[in-house]
Amino acid sequence: MKSPAESKFTHSLVDLVVDDILLCPRCLYNYSHRQPGLIDIPSDNPKEFTSLVAFKGECGHQFGLQITQYKGQTFLYVVDISND
Ligand SMILES: [Zn+2]
Repeated sequence: MKSPAESKFTHSLVDLVVDDILLCPRCLYNYSHRQPGLIDIPSDNPKEFTSLVAFKGECGHQFGLQITQYKGQTFLYVVDISND
């Protein structure tokens, strides 16, 4: 699994939620399974905090819901962390 920092594919959450269901960012499949744990992503910026909730899609792709806080604002993204 690639770290979000290594991912080439970061997507807006707005584009990947249909009928309140999170879709795979690679193929838009709508069945996935949350992986245990919350991954904290280190940052060089002391005002930025990022965590990731990982999912494994039934399509075979892996992706994460990225939550980044920066100066009091919270940003939500979906990142592709598949190995291929
Ligand atoms: Zn997929």
